[in-house]
This record gives sequence, structure tokens and C-alpha cells, in this order.
Amino acid sequence: MKQLTDFPYSNVLVLGLARSGTAAANVLLDSNRNVRINDMQAKEDDETVEELKSKGAEVILGTHPLHVLDGIDIVVKNPGIPYDNNILIEATRRDIPIITEIELAGQLADGEIIAITGSNGKTTTTTLTNEMLSKSNLPVKVAGNIGLVATEIAQLVDRKESLVLELSSFQLLGIQRFKPSIAVLLNIFEAHLDYHKSMENYMEAKFNIFRNQTEEDYLVFNADDSKIASVIDKASSQKVPFSVKQRLTNGAWMDQDYLYFREEKVMPVSDIVLVGEHNLENILAAIAAAKLRGATNEGIYEVLTTFSGVKHRLQFVDNIEKRFFYNDSKATNILATQKALSSFKQPVILLAGGLDRGNDFEELLPYLKFVKGLVVFGQTSEKLRELGKQADISTIINANNVEDAVEKAYEASEEEDVILLSPACASWDQYRTFEERGDMFIQAVHRLK
Ligand code: ADP
Repeated sequence: MKQLTDFPYSNVLVLGLARSGTAAANVLLDSNRNVRINDMQAKEDDETVEELKSKGAEVILGTHPLHVLDGIDIVVKNPGIPYDNNILIEATRRDIPIITEIELAGQLADGEIIAITGSNGKTTTTTLTNEMLSKSNLPVKVAGNIGLVATEIAQLVDRKESLVLELSSFQLLGIQRFKPSIAVLLNIFEAHLDYHKSMENYMEAKFNIFRNQTEEDYLVFNADDSKIASVIDKASSQKVPFSVKQRLTNGAWMDQDYLYFREEKVMPVSDIVLVGEHNLENILAAIAAAKLRGATNEGIYEVLTTFSGVKHRLQFVDNIEKRFFYNDSKATNILATQKALSSFKQPVILLAGGLDRGNDFEELLPYLKFVKGLVVFGQTSEKLRELGKQADISTIINANNVEDAVEKAYEASEEEDVILLSPACASWDQYRTFEERGDMFIQAVHRLK
């Protein structure tokens, strides 16, 4: 295991174990630091807890007593723990710095880091960037919010390699010296205000991605996003904009026919497989980041002519008897379903419904122009049925669940229809996660064959 060489703290509290906390604790123990672990949920007889204890960690489970901070020089917290946790309030009062494991990952990776953040599109852009480098035969690893613990993967990254990191605002709040060679800022919408308390805090977290950058680094940013434009001057790095709207000589852009990087034609727009206007932004951001690391147009072409979406995000699933099935189970709110519906110009049968959060769905009305059929399920069935009536959709069908909805949609469909699962609701009334809901959709589609 690699060791931390430039981490001037001896006594570390790891707050929240989970996978990232475990990885952080292991690195710290391997780097001969004194590690104390505090976690509410983990159990004494967990295998990981036992292993960490055997390596010398002090473990306090089930409560958060303030004395866990005694003698501590720094706290490594799980990104999910909010800052109004009593330990974190006390740590701040005692001037003890608080970081997340991203700070450790930044120190452990020997290669160049491409860090990607934004309110939406992170996973898609991270995946695209990783694929573009990989298909250009450049060594690359991927980690972060995408589901692979950054500290674990960072240790494996050698000098010639790139590490593409998807970063949430929660992860970015806890950095000190983290300095990516390429930072990508996709967009900023109001999100997670329950955690961040204010838009300012949220913006602050996003800007952390370029805070430590210097002139030799790059900041890839969305030139069409006014919130981003207003603060970009704070960056010391070289700015590389991307835009779906304007011609740019210093970044990634497009016209009706081609994608460009600076003055160079990269590939024809019509060869892109991935659907969705919003994905053009993600594609341009990925092109900018990948080109800055030496990706080839051939590599980019190979990715964009085959990549049909990250699982559950407007993912093309199959074509059965000329019905085109898309899984957008990740669309757990109205905004995401609006994006999905804006992506199609042919007849759509929409599968929607799920947990009722007390909102109505009127904001979907202007987006239902191409929706010829609506199959509803879950707690919000009736509300969505009403919406369908308001929009004069001729076919509105009730289904028991997503699997049933697939069968009913197929029966009601004709050739060239899109059958789209984009529920506009969380899944928890009927499924454990949106992933499980999406998997049920995929399985039901495959059963039609
Ligand atoms: P994240 O990782 O940030 O959650 P994903 O790539 O997983 O983003 O996409 C999640 C959803 O966000 C998509 O299904 C789509 O509805 C929406 N989305 C993706 N990219 C963008 C974008 N560039 N602008 C606006 N919305 C987007």
C-alpha cells in the first residue's frame, strides 16, 4: 500500500466508516498515523472493524461522544455526514480541520487528476472522459462518486496515468490542498440545499474544485451557465470553456453538423448515439477534458458512436419489433423527466409514477407534446392520470408496477414508438432503489423477446 508522505497530522479521527472511511483508515494506519474511528452504525464484530482494530485503530461505535475529539489533529469525515453533526460543530469550535477522503486520494495518486463536478451530468461526463482516454490507448482509472472509493483507486494510479474522479459537492467541501490538473465544472442548479443550507455554501463547495489550481492547470467550464460565469474569474488556472450555443476558439463547441475542439473538427454530430440535448453538454465537457490529456479524435469517435448511456440514465436498452426502449429510472424528479422528454421527437409512451412527495406534476405539461401514451404506477398513479387527461393523451393505462407497465406499454405501442421509463418520482414506494426499478424495467423488456 502507498503511504501518505505529505500529511502533517499524527492523530486522526475517521468519522463514519462505510467504504470510504474504511479505505481512509487503512491508508492512515499504513502511513503510521494514530487512528480513532467513530461510527454510529458499525458493529464491534464487523469483519472490517475487527481488521482495523488489529491494525491498531481505536474504535468507538454506537454514539458520538465529544471526547472522541480529544487529542485529535484532523477529522476525516464521511461526505454524507452533515456539518451540523455535534462532533463536527465541536471540531470547528476547537479549530480542528475537517476533510473528506478525497483530500487523501489527491495526495496518493501519482498521475494527473481530472476532477468532474456539477449539479447534473457528473456520472455521464466522468464515464465519457474515462472511455475517451481509454479508447485513445491512454492509461486511465476512474473513481469517486461513481461508486469506486477514490482513496483505494488513487493508490494504484502511476505517474503516467490519469485518474478521472467524479466529485459531489459533499466530497468537495472537505478539501484543503486537493489540486486537479484538470477541473470540470458542468453546471450549477439549486440542489441539496437541505445539506448545504444556502446556495452560497453550495457554490463554495463547487468552486473548491479549482481553488488550489495554478497556471499550469486547466478549468473546463460551461460557458452557457450564468452562475458559473459569475465566478470563473476567481480561478488561477487556464480556462477552457465549452458551449452548445456559441462558437469558441479556446474550447469545445458545436454547430449543427460538427463537434469541435478549438479550431479542429472532432466528429459529425449525426454519428452520436447518446440521446438527450443535455448530453451534448456532457459530451463537449468530456471532449475538452480528454483532448487536454491527449485523446485522439478516433478514440472519441469510437466512444460516441457506441456509448448509449450510463445505466438508468436515459439508457437505450433495446429495439424490439421497432419499439425503442429507454431506461431513465434515475429520473426521480420532474426536472429530470422534462430533460428526458425533450430528447425525443417521435411518439413516446411514457412510464411514470412512484413515491408521492405531495407535489403535483403540472410542470410536465409543456413537455408532453410527443407523448401519445401514458402508463402510470405507484403512489402517484392518480395524479399522473389526471395530468394525462389534462394533456389530452388518448391512451392512459394503470399498471401494478414497472414490469407490468412494460407489458402494457408494449401492447399499446406501434412501430417507431419510444417506450420510456422516466418516472419523475422516487422509487421507494415499490422498490428499494432507482437502480432496482431500472433493473426490473430492463428484465421486463428482455422478457418481451
Ligand atoms: P449526476 O451523476 O450528476 O447525478 P448523471 O450523469 O447521472 O448525473 O445524470 C443524471 C440525470 O441528470 C440525467 O438522467 C439527466 O436527467 C440529468 N442530466 C444529465 N446531464 C445533464 C446536464 N448536463 N444538464 C442538465 N441535466 C442533466
